[in-house]
Amino acid sequence: MLRKSKIQANFVEMVCKCGEGVFRLIDGLPVTDSNPKQWAHRCTACGIQVDITTVYPLIEFKGKSFMLADSLRFERDPGQTSIGKNK
Ligand SMILES: [Zn+2]
Repeated sequence: MLRKSKIQANFVEMVCKCGEGVFRLIDGLPVTDSNPKQWAHRCTACGIQVDITTVYPLIEFKGKSFMLADSLRFERDPGQTSIGKNK
């Protein structure tokens, strides 16, 4: 059983250097298996692609960062780009 409670948290976004957009995870791309791992993101305005060691946007609560569960749950196979449709 799950218990849900309302909390007050911060919604954290990574702003692009173009100053217009924010970075969003590109769904379906494999995670770069570095240490720490890196996820491919794309700017919502200029479209530039960058690898970031945290999935944005994220939620910050009591000094801890919480990342999107879907981006962590599935191991992405580089040869399989449409894994998001096979949940
Ligand atoms: Zn940009």
